[in-house]
Amino acid sequence: MIEQPPDHCAVAINPQLRGAHLLLQKDLSLVNRLVALMPASDRAIFLEHSEMVELKVQTVLAQAGKNSDHAYFPVDCVVVSLLHDNGADGVEIGLVGNEGMANTSLVLGVRTSAFTSVVQGAGRSFKIHHKELEKLLAENLCLRVVLNRYIDVRMRQLAQRVACKNSHTVKQRLARWLLMTRDRAHANELFLTHEILALMLGVRRESVTLAARSLQTHGLISYTRGYVMLMDTAALEEVACTCYRSDIAVYERTLRQPCPTTA
Ligand SMILES: [Zn+2]
Repeated sequence: MIEQPPDHCAVAINPQLRGAHLLLQKDLSLVNRLVALMPASDRAIFLEHSEMVELKVQTVLAQAGKNSDHAYFPVDCVVVSLLHDNGADGVEIGLVGNEGMANTSLVLGVRTSAFTSVVQGAGRSFKIHHKELEKLLAENLCLRVVLNRYIDVRMRQLAQRVACKNSHTVKQRLARWLLMTRDRAHANELFLTHEILALMLGVRRESVTLAARSLQTHGLISYTRGYVMLMDTAALEEVACTCYRSDIAVYERTLRQPCPTTA
């Protein structure tokens, strides 16, 4: 069952924005990269046991400490995972788009979620019940390997994020987060208030304001009333800390390995 989100999860990319080029993709089963990486036979079985759903902004897909029933494989929606500490606002620990999946703990046979996962950008997603997923994982080696590799990537990215927060400036991290969001929303126009950005980066709002002002002064972004336009993504990549490229490299290196055969 999808529950209503608590107020502190009110984070949103402009719900009107979707990856326009994704909408032109005829075979939506190949848009989510994990699903696309499955061998055709595994993919056919996965699609048979999953359904395509429309997810609205702020839909809660998992709540920390509660059981999750479904895993989600985004097509053109964006999901953020938040860690809550003593009832405070969440700290962003993961951003998932069509490169990944939400509720990864179900792959490991754990139904109780450690994090709260909320839809940040509206769109479509494949949804599969945990019992179906468990059955498919038990019967399909390549599916299991692909999803295990993805979990390994998420763990490495999470470790990188801890190092990032301690080592890199707010401006570098803001540039990285804007690029990460762009990559998953497939849009250069994002609806993000300073409050949301502060929540995502785990810093004070004033720090975000200063960093955003600097990026705007140098022509990298245009920022008006929560509406962010990425004006020069190449320059933004120059400003972003190395964690941005590192995350992408880890993903590509790990998931591009061939699947083992059962022969
Ligand atoms: Zn960093």
